[in-house]
Amino acid sequence: MTSSTQKTRLSPCIGCGRTDTPIDQRITGWQMCRPCTKRRRNHPAPCPTCGLVRVLAFPLGKQAVCTTCAGAPPLFECPNCGEESHPYGKVCARCTLATRATELLTDPATGHLNQQLRPLLDYWINSVDPRTPLRWVSQSQASTDLLRQMACGQSSISHVAFRQLPPTKPNDYLRNLLVSIGILGPWEPHVDRFISWLDTEIAPRLEPECAFTINSYARWHILRNLHRHASNGTLTQAVANSARIRVRAAIEFCELLARRGVSIEDATQVDLEELISNSPGYNRTKTIASFIAWARKTRVNRNLTASGEPWPNATVTISTEQHWSDVERLLNEDHHPAHIRLAGLFTLLFAQPLNRIVAMRLQQIHVTETDVLVTFANDPIEMPPILDDLLRNYLTTRADRLVETSDPGWLFPGGQPGRHLVTEVFRRDLTAIGIKPYESRKASMFHLAARIPAPVLAGLLGITDRNAAAWAKLSGRDWSAYIQHRDEAGQKGGTHAI
Ligand SMILES: [Zn+2]
Ligand SMILES: [Zn+2]
Ligand SMILES: [Zn+2]
Repeated sequence: MTSSTQKTRLSPCIGCGRTDTPIDQRITGWQMCRPCTKRRRNHPAPCPTCGLVRVLAFPLGKQAVCTTCAGAPPLFECPNCGEESHPYGKVCARCTLATRATELLTDPATGHLNQQLRPLLDYWINSVDPRTPLRWVSQSQASTDLLRQMACGQSSISHVAFRQLPPTKPNDYLRNLLVSIGILGPWEPHVDRFISWLDTEIAPRLEPECAFTINSYARWHILRNLHRHASNGTLTQAVANSARIRVRAAIEFCELLARRGVSIEDATQVDLEELISNSPGYNRTKTIASFIAWARKTRVNRNLTASGEPWPNATVTISTEQHWSDVERLLNEDHHPAHIRLAGLFTLLFAQPLNRIVAMRLQQIHVTETDVLVTFANDPIEMPPILDDLLRNYLTTRADRLVETSDPGWLFPGGQPGRHLVTEVFRRDLTAIGIKPYESRKASMFHLAARIPAPVLAGLLGITDRNAAAWAKLSGRDWSAYIQHRDEAGQKGGTHAI
């Protein structure tokens, strides 16, 4: 036993084959160098004999097994809990986490763990890989400072408390974490920020003459609209921005009236026209239209009219060649991240809007031995070649992340706990690689509407019957040109949707 461990230079390490590294003398039965033992200690794996995740550094025949199976004295167990699966320092990562998190969530004045935050402690300690929360507890100073204040009762554990803080990433992260564990109820960031914006930036600066009208308009009409978007899953950054622009336009109009000593009830079309003509190069008609419509509807003033531009009709601004070349690129250029390629292809091939793509769930994808089916609306659609493999591979990596119990099963999980990616990420990344999601989606609608009856299309893609019919009409008109373009595009193998 001792003679073999003492002569270190002649026999090679059974792990790396080197003869110039010091042998780990604690392990008998074979010669393994210290760096190899350390590597194995840091990367425990299922033991081939007992199946438990242990440090495999001990000999049993020619196999490396765990200490128990080799009948060797324990070397790498956590002295606290006996686990080997997550080595950290003197004790394992889970035990270190338990100590640090308990300390963080305990009020030093009373020595009591904050009971409202106890579920957070349980959630951390029971996480599959305790190293992730341990890293967060040890490194995220801004979030942990806030959490400490909450634990001590210096700050309440509520959405109200968060609303008074700047919307920084660490604050949002902590807030989403508390929501995902159920310590706080759900919240809608865009609605929440709109309310904060009204309270802190708008309300204090309103002229007294305008305050009542603007408050009613913003808090009843605009805010209700935002809530409606939120429940439909269409509340994007663009919608939130537009809400603020509309409120600002209304303020501008009310202030113009106040300067003239005219109340909103007595305002005339001349006043309104002046506001519109005062804003050259900027579509004031469109931004004030919602306020005027509200004023009419609520009988504040029924003499004013402003019609914003109608929504753009079904039109296509991307050529067929461009459309299919974008599809080809997304299918074949594998240096782009998989989630960006998938989102792009869902838009380009199946006319899915980005706000619906970001909120897709894993249950919408059904993988069989031969096919990959995606249910965008009511009926599953078989994915074309390449896209099916892309999805299969993506799901494998996504499954690796699907480890925490609070994972709500988003297809595209975001960086914030419990939340999916936001549309702006997809829009930015697709635009960065030369793909215009909005225009591409319209081109896709055109191609699909040309081939599939409107009601079927509505059921497959989740668009309204009316919308599908409008596209069918447009496609029908250009049917011959479409066929010709498609033939010219060479029927590129398998890229046609559905
Ligand atoms: Zn070695
Ligand atoms: Zn074993
Ligand atoms: Zn331990």
